[in-house]
Amino acid sequence: MKKSILIFIENNGKSIQDVSLELLSKGNELKEKLDTDLHAAIIGDNNTEFYSKLYAFGVDIIYSVNDGEFKEFKTLPYTKAMLKIIKESNPQIILYGATNIGRDLAPRIASSLKCGLTADCTDLRIGNFEYMKKTWKNLLYQIRPAWGGNIIATIVNPEMHPQMATVREGVMHMIEPDYSLKGKVVEIGVELSDKDKKITILKRIIKEKTVDLKGANIIVSGGAGMGSKGNFNKMFEFAKLIKAEVGASRAAVDFGFISKDHQVGQTGTVVKPRVYFAFGISGAVQHRVGMENSGTIIAINSDPDAPIFDIAHVKIVGDINTILPLMIKTYKEMGK
Ligand SMILES: Cc1cc2nc3c(=O)[nH]c(=O)nc-3n(C[C@H](O)[C@H](O)[C@H](O)COP(=O)(O)OP(=O)(O)OC[C@H]3O[C@@H](n4cnc5c(N)ncnc54)[C@H](O)[C@@H]3O)c2cc1C
Repeated sequence: MKKSILIFIENNGKSIQDVSLELLSKGNELKEKLDTDLHAAIIGDNNTEFYSKLYAFGVDIIYSVNDGEFKEFKTLPYTKAMLKIIKESNPQIILYGATNIGRDLAPRIASSLKCGLTADCTDLRIGNFEYMKKTWKNLLYQIRPAWGGNIIATIVNPEMHPQMATVREGVMHMIEPDYSLKGKVVEIGVELSDKDKKITILKRIIKEKTVDLKGANIIVSGGAGMGSKGNFNKMFEFAKLIKAEVGASRAAVDFGFISKDHQVGQTGTVVKPRVYFAFGISGAVQHRVGMENSGTIIAINSDPDAPIFDIAHVKIVGDINTILPLMIKTYKEMGK
């Protein structure tokens, strides 16, 4: 039986998570290289809504568990459903978003199938692997930062297949959907035992998202060099003037200048705005992996040798206490 690439489609019954569409986009590229089919695993209670979108992202076969019992994510029922889908799909590669759900589900599957899993990948490629005079062809290179982000590691899994990875949101390029594409659906029924239904959800409290870094066209980010919460208030003023979102380095978050939902980087959000301002940010690799694909990077730093200048398109050497008020004043005057 032909091996497939299987993508876990995370959805909340109303929409599909962007990371799943990003993975389908990458799946199309891998499918070309491996000459295989792209499959989608969708579990929920309103799946039919999403079929045309999944085809438009190049899915050949949708494996669908569409049942009220699966309205909300619960680890044991979803694991059972996923294992049944995997049996049908026969994948050589399975990809999940590195979201709360993906990080819960994927290790369960790895443990059930006794296969490997690489968490938090930032890139995926296909290549050969040689070890002890043996060559494995067309393995999935699972690429991610390691050792605190100081090296980029390429991890392969030659023996214990399927090869599985969770992938960070926002790192894969999303293709344009083509709604003329068609595929087929395979409905999968899953019987749940009392053991599978151990967890009951009593109440769901959804915190509204107040920061949209991923969708922002312009981001003004501040680091430890901002020096105070007060300076971040100025940053918010500047952001409002130029219709930007406010981002931050982890050091700024750790100093309590701003909340964690604003953090950009390896353990924050990965962003690709048209314009990224970096005020008082040194440019540590863990920050850079989260913003280096921005269109234009404008860095403001008092240290002319700050590593952020290596990737900046516009370099301003100076004190943020001078530059930021000057920028606010200039934009205010331009707006008059
Ligand atoms: C596992 C791991 C995950 C991590 N994840 C992340 C992450 O997601 N995001 C992230 O950002 N970091 C992350 N980090 C932390 C990262 O290594 C750096 O410590 C952090 O990015 C540094 O933040 P910073 O540039 O604001 O501070 P610093 O490195 O202290 O730099 C401050 C900069 O401000 C400049 N400056 C100082 N005063 C002024 C002034 N008045 N005007 C202008 N410039 C001034 C200085 O010259 C300096 O370049 C992670 C670290 C680890 C180990």
